Amino acid sequence: MSKHFAVFGHPVAHSLSPKIHAAFGRQTGIPVDYRAIDAEPGQFTHALSDFIAMGGVGANVTLPLKQVAFTLCDDLTERARRAGAVNTLVRNGDTWHGDNTDGAGLVRDLTDRHALDLRSRRTLLLGAGGGARGVAPALLDAGIGDLYIVNRTAQRSDALADALGEPGRVHPRYLNDLLSLGEFDLIVNATSAARDGQMPQLPRSIVGPRCAAVDLNYGEAAIPFLAWARAAGCRDVVDGLGMLVEQAAESFARWHGVRPETDAVYEMLRSHHDALVTA
Ligand code: NDP
Repeated sequence: MSKHFAVFGHPVAHSLSPKIHAAFGRQTGIPVDYRAIDAEPGQFTHALSDFIAMGGVGANVTLPLKQVAFTLCDDLTERARRAGAVNTLVRNGDTWHGDNTDGAGLVRDLTDRHALDLRSRRTLLLGAGGGARGVAPALLDAGIGDLYIVNRTAQRSDALADALGEPGRVHPRYLNDLLSLGEFDLIVNATSAARDGQMPQLPRSIVGPRCAAVDLNYGEAAIPFLAWARAAGCRDVVDGLGMLVEQAAESFARWHGVRPETDAVYEMLRSHHDALVTA
């Protein structure tokens, strides 16, 4: 049976992952059958069983399924365990091995492509869903300073801070605390608010003199936050397109044993998804 790969999410029709993995396949000469499969959280286990039956051996998982995927794995990489969320599934015999490549993808994009030095940056992470869970451990490992996690639902920021386990460095806070939190050197938007045409209310007082703003979203969904960041004085402004390509490259390497080159794929996508990126 030929090997199949997929990205699971809800909604998922907009996903660029099939295009990215097809491009990596052409570049490396590896035949890639990678499709997008829509599954709501309640249907995910069933959809995965169908996928296995048709030869599925590897998958990406996107919103809102990353925390559900974590619970379905038989074993995990250390970075997936720390994140409490899985974006990459690898079929290993009769079991699922879970990894999380989001954080490595973000850090590689920011440091290598955009030449941002993350060390000691006082950081605000907006959101505590699957994406925030993936990037928080990698940002800490990259040497940021204190990390403030602010989420609309306070229990989720508390739970993420607990999972990260660095109480002196990681601080869960409420959205309405923002005015009292002072200035940041890095603000990361990991909310999906823009998908509903919304954006968290953010005061300008959170932007410090060397502040970089990063949105995990890309395309239209990145515009509200990045436009706010630019108007509020952020020096560097980066969307999530490069992270998307880098996390995909990490997943591709897990499945096929070859790490593809990412710049050409990034440039190809960038030409269709121009944004407000300035770093
Ligand atoms: P989840 O559904 O797991 O989490 C969504 C998060 O957004 C939660 O923290 C939620 O808060 C918050 N949120 C949603 N609506 C609002 C709102 N109106 N105001 C304030 N907060 C809100 O999604 P993910 O974490 O997986 O993804 C988040 C975004 O990041 C998505 O748009 C996704 O596309 C993007 N992403 C991009 C990646 C890339 O490679 N570029 C990788 C991963 C994610 P609450 O807990 O209160 O519901």
